Amino acid sequence: MTIALGIPRHRPSAVDPSSYRLPADRPGSDALIDRFGRAATDLRISLTDKCNLRCTYCMPAEGLPSQPVDALMTADEIRRLVGIAVSTLGVRQVRFTGGEPLLRADLVDIVAACASLPDRPEVSLTTNAIGLASRAGKLAAAGLDRLNVSLDSLHPDVFALLTRRPFLQRVLDGIEAAGHAGFAGIKINAVLVRGVNDTQAAELLDWSLRSGHQLRFIEQMPLDADRSWSREGMVTAAETRESLSAHFDLAPDTVPRAGAPAELWQVRRRGHHRLLGVVGIIASVTEPFCGDCRRTRLTAEGGVRNCLFAHDETDLLTPLRAGADDDTLARLWQGEMWRKAAGHGVNSPGFVQPERTMSAIGG
Ligand code: SAM
Ligand code: SF4
Repeated sequence: MTIALGIPRHRPSAVDPSSYRLPADRPGSDALIDRFGRAATDLRISLTDKCNLRCTYCMPAEGLPSQPVDALMTADEIRRLVGIAVSTLGVRQVRFTGGEPLLRADLVDIVAACASLPDRPEVSLTTNAIGLASRAGKLAAAGLDRLNVSLDSLHPDVFALLTRRPFLQRVLDGIEAAGHAGFAGIKINAVLVRGVNDTQAAELLDWSLRSGHQLRFIEQMPLDADRSWSREGMVTAAETRESLSAHFDLAPDTVPRAGAPAELWQVRRRGHHRLLGVVGIIASVTEPFCGDCRRTRLTAEGGVRNCLFAHDETDLLTPLRAGADDDTLARLWQGEMWRKAAGHGVNSPGFVQPERTMSAIGG
């Protein structure tokens, strides 16, 4: 099933700074604060909602209707908005995602532009690694600091079942090339799907530890295009820990979590003392961490979203193209973050899945 992207958007009608006022109850802070005392310092930017995989928990088999190229932010527009975010709004980390960000021909330029800003943020990328083999060196040279690669199975048949594409080897080649290009501490993101790869958690962890990568399991969230997510079908963080515990001893990591979504566990072989590394488990559904959320998001079309599960967003691209100054854009961004809800609501009885899917928001 393909869904239409009829996203409610706050579209500022004028670019005159006086036409947009922040709510009277908002304190006069430059930061991206909300009503619940949180300040967003971590910006996720989707560069495209296109992808060359079709992960069952994310995209429909037939893909999503593609956006016209001129609807997407250009490299210059991204640099301008990231510049405002870091110089005025207190953002310290920028992660490029999608869809598949490697599908942007200008990805290296975008990374270089953001990494050369005054008040340089930490710049990272979440990718499926297809095509990374030929671009890892250029991305490193452009100033990319960190890399997360999504990989759900080491078995070609299971990988193909989950992603609907037979490209496991390309992903493995991309990860290897990234290591040769100097990326250390690559994080591997895995989603477990019941009946498909849920028996492979320990194998993925074993491979990650041997390869020097940090594995993180992410609970499947109701952001799939097919709308087939169910609470019963989802593999929970507790189940993941239990399945790993058949092979490894897990102990809570001693490093403070500091707002990070992943809960880290120290890993040892069962009955052994030697610490092998850590594994992260992101329990977005069963143990939500919304109270510590530090995220703000930009869609590929320049819409600010205050949460993955938000039902609307504020358009920054239209006013930017109409000549809005930095101060106006900053205040529009602050206004959207002030509307952020206390939590994502997935566990509330009235929960409604947002119109946009994960690939169209940027995970
Ligand atoms: N294409 C890139 C990739 O796969 O890494 C970047 C975009 S993808 C949307 C970012 C992350 O979101 C991936 O790690 C993916 O596994 C995760 N993801 C996608 N759909 C999800 C869902 N419904 N629940 C939880 N995580 C999901
Ligand atoms: Fe593409 Fe990433 Fe979604 Fe998989 S998770 S379909 S690779 S955007």
